[in-house]
Amino acid sequence: MVKETGYYDLLGVKPGATLDEIKRAYRRLALKYHPDKNPNEGERFKQISQAYEVLSDTQKRALYDRGGERAMKEGGVGGRGGGFGSPMDIFNMFFGGGARMPGRGERRGKTVVHPLSVTLEDLYNGTTRKLSVQKNIICSKCNGCGVREGVNSRCPKCHGTGMEFHVHQLGPSMIQQIQTMCSQCQGQGEWVRPLDRCLTCNGRRVTREKKILNVHLDRGMQDGQRITFHEEGDQVPGLEPGDVVIVLDQKEHPVFRRIGNDLIIRKEISLVDALCGFRQVVHTLDNRTLLVSSPRGDIIRPGSVKCIPNEGMPVYRNPTQKGRLVIHFQVKFPEPGWLPPDRLRQLRAFFPPQEEVMATENMQEVELSDYFSQPGHWWQPHAGEAYFEDDFEDASRPHVQCHTS
Ligand SMILES: [Zn+2]
Ligand SMILES: [Zn+2]
Repeated sequence: MVKETGYYDLLGVKPGATLDEIKRAYRRLALKYHPDKNPNEGERFKQISQAYEVLSDTQKRALYDRGGERAMKEGGVGGRGGGFGSPMDIFNMFFGGGARMPGRGERRGKTVVHPLSVTLEDLYNGTTRKLSVQKNIICSKCNGCGVREGVNSRCPKCHGTGMEFHVHQLGPSMIQQIQTMCSQCQGQGEWVRPLDRCLTCNGRRVTREKKILNVHLDRGMQDGQRITFHEEGDQVPGLEPGDVVIVLDQKEHPVFRRIGNDLIIRKEISLVDALCGFRQVVHTLDNRTLLVSSPRGDIIRPGSVKCIPNEGMPVYRNPTQKGRLVIHFQVKFPEPGWLPPDRLRQLRAFFPPQEEVMATENMQEVELSDYFSQPGHWWQPHAGEAYFEDDFEDASRPHVQCHTS
């Protein structure tokens, strides 16, 4: 029994959620509330990130389940000085693959991840999208040294060593030498007067610039797929720049759902279509019109699933091949009383004879009423719907190797 559900609620998962469910929830929400897309939802982005940080860690989650947020704070997780990671670092780590976070002594900058909203049409047809990103560039005026030309940036106090030595006379023949970090340059070994700083970067060594990345979307790419731009991250003097990773975030399509390379649609047909055969029009994602007909003599049952081979999504890196277009049929039955009783008799003549049940004396006659489920009752009748809505859901969210541009 968990004490609080706040973090679970933030991610929209149940307290018993598996790690996989938690990751999926974080993935969806973090993309949605990333500052690139939702600049005003910074606080929300931060909360989602904290919830994920706690719930994705077995120990932190156990602590939270036992004692709620309070126990987290007392246990030194979260809260003031308690060390939640930066929301952006967690996001970058999650979507950037996590392998390239700079550790101590690492000679590379951080990987930065940007979400990119794409439509299913984009992924079907392929396209090029321009994405504007802000990044640090080594100052071209001072070449990243941060000082004006001709100025010696060596710290005058420590002569560039970054260390200060203090000598204490302890006795007639005893001295003690203490080594501390240089107070002038904070151990950097370099220091200049504010006047001598490079005017272009104001001594920061880098300037903030806008860069346009051309993101090529190949046919058949998938939601969540990563596209890596090597060394396009922030430039830092003395480090190799990190990568920029673009994560595709596919908007829901009003008609098509994608599962792997299959496209799923829902079609409602009339009872007469279901019994006598039909022709229906489907508009494809590349603006063609398909005329779909059922084989002569076939019957479409409610909830049945049929497909058209090679009309699904193009296969990534092999786009002449396509998945299937899967059609999930609903059959619309006529309204009660649609046919007068005498015509009903005529209709009956087309069907096999009905089973006759004779009323006898020891039978009690009863009539059917409509059923409405009681509030809170667990049983809901389902007409093949649930299968469409949930069971397909993320059965196997594809993990695609990242593609290098
Ligand atoms: Zn110094
Ligand atoms: Zn400069």
